Amino acid sequence: GAGYTAILYQLILIGIILKTGQSCGRRIAFLICLCYMSASFFAAYPFQLALVMETVYNLLIFAVLTVGSSYVHVLVRRQMDNEQQMKELERENDRKDQMVLTDALTGLYNYRAYKEKIESVPQYALLVIDIDRFKKLNDTYGHGFGNKVLVKLGMIIRQSIRTGDMAFRYGGEEFVLLLPGANGTLGHKIAERLRQQVEASSFSHGKQEVPVTISIGISVKNPGTDSQTVFEQADSALYKAKQAGRNNVQWFAQELEMVCRL
Ligand code: GH3
Ligand code: MG
Ligand code: MG
Repeated sequence: GAGYTAILYQLILIGIILKTGQSCGRRIAFLICLCYMSASFFAAYPFQLALVMETVYNLLIFAVLTVGSSYVHVLVRRQMDNEQQMKELERENDRKDQMVLTDALTGLYNYRAYKEKIESVPQYALLVIDIDRFKKLNDTYGHGFGNKVLVKLGMIIRQSIRTGDMAFRYGGEEFVLLLPGANGTLGHKIAERLRQQVEASSFSHGKQEVPVTISIGISVKNPGTDSQTVFEQADSALYKAKQAGRNNVQWFAQELEMVCRL
């Protein structure tokens, strides 16, 4: 009987301590002991040495169990704290990794991320996007307005891509869209849609609407071409787009020929 009572007491105490914290648990244990002592006192009346000894013995067991429960509580708390600290550390590291790869102005991936990710994609369409006459926008409406244009363009790009696609701010006013698994036809469709979206978007400086357009060069990565060559091809297609009057989309010549043959 006494053994089961002790185990029951121990379990209840551990439960209470875990639920309410250690000091409250100790207070409750003290109260239980007080009740027990009073009950034993009346039960033992008139006093017999054996009963008094049993009460003292039981109280000692209570004390040991209480200390034991407190210790269990300390161990469990410590373990929980450690786990929480580990999780926070992991979250903090993830946040830092994310920051290192993110462009602070647009929230897109930055150049470093581009260098890191590009090599791991075996096949893709690559779009190099450049704002038309951006220097003039800066000079006319100020650098702050230029930055607002960059932020808004970043948003438009982010909203226009599928999951799995990746958007980077490659340099000042130059963006890169990486479309894993896409061929030239899909790349062109997405580029043309994006060009139209930007043309139709409103960029306002005070009450004045400022027209903003982009030009896009496209190339496709196939086995045998390295990522640097693909970028250069897309960049030369972009140069063609600028030559052709800006606000338009061009493919790298070889890609165009290949698609025409299909
Ligand atoms: P094009 O149509 O040929 O691309 O002409 P462009 O004026 O856009 O090209 P250019 O390379 O001559 O000018 C790019 C300008 O972008 C120059 C630079 O001041 C501006 N720029 C680069 N980074 C930033 C930036 O972070 N914020 C702002 N506001 N301007 C930037
Ligand atoms: Mg430009
Ligand atoms: Mg440029």
